[in-house]
Amino acid sequence: MITRKSQREIEKMQAAGDVLVKCHKEIAKIIKPGITTMEIDAFVEKFLAEQGATPEQKGFSGYPYATCASINDEICHGFPREEQLVEGDIVTIDMVVNLNGGLADSAWTYKVGNLDEKGEKLLDVTKQSLYKGIEQAQPGNRIGDIGHAIQTYAEGEGFSVVRDFTGHGIGPTLHEEPHIPHFGLPNKGTRLKEGMVITIEPMINEGGWQSKMDSNNWTARTVDQGRSAQYEHTVVITKDGPMVTTEQD
Ligand code: MN
Repeated sequence: MITRKSQREIEKMQAAGDVLVKCHKEIAKIIKPGITTMEIDAFVEKFLAEQGATPEQKGFSGYPYATCASINDEICHGFPREEQLVEGDIVTIDMVVNLNGGLADSAWTYKVGNLDEKGEKLLDVTKQSLYKGIEQAQPGNRIGDIGHAIQTYAEGEGFSVVRDFTGHGIGPTLHEEPHIPHFGLPNKGTRLKEGMVITIEPMINEGGWQSKMDSNNWTARTVDQGRSAQYEHTVVITKDGPMVTTEQD
C-alpha cells in the first residue's frame, strides 16, 4: 500500500531530516586519509544519540551497523570496517535517522583527499542525476519519469545506472511501496500524488551496471570492479513541487 502523509507526519520527517543533514555535515569534516569507516559509524551512532535520534538501519533485517559505508567498487550496503581510507578513495555513507518516529534517509559519496578526474566526474554526474530525478517528483508525473530522467542524463555522460537496487517509499517504516527505479520509460508506472514520500538514490557506475553480492549477503559491488557513487535524498511530493527533507544547503 502506498501511504500519503499528513502535514504532522511530514513535519516529523523533516525534523529527522534536519538531524541527518547535521550528521552528514560533520562527517564531511572528519573524512580524510587514515580514518576508518568503523570510526565514522561510531561517530554517527554517538551523534544521533546526542540528538535524541536512532539509526534506523541498525537491526533492520538484522543489519548490524548504524551506517552503510561502501568504498570504491562497492555499490551499497558496505559494512563499516577497521581499514583506513586512503587518498583517492570514494566512500558512500548511507544512513536513516529515526527521530520520534519520523524517518529520513540520505546517502552521500565522499572523496578521501584528492580524487582523479574521472572520479570527480563520476561524483558530479551522480549528484546531478539525483537532482534530475527530483525535478520529476511532481504530482501527476509517474515513477518512470524519475528513472528516465536519471538514466538519460547519466548514460549520456558515459556512465551506467545500477538496476538491482532502487529508491522506495519511506514512512512509517524504512522500506515502503513503491519501488523507485533509477532507469525506465517516461509516462510509465504509478502516478505520484501529493503526500507521498519517497527516496531517490541513484547508484551510478563508471563501468557496467552489473552487480554481484558479497558473501556477507549484504554488500553489492560492481562485477567489473569499476567504482560506484550514490547520492540520495528523501523527497515529499507536494502541490508546490518536490520538497527535499535532507537538503544540505
Ligand atoms: Mn534509501
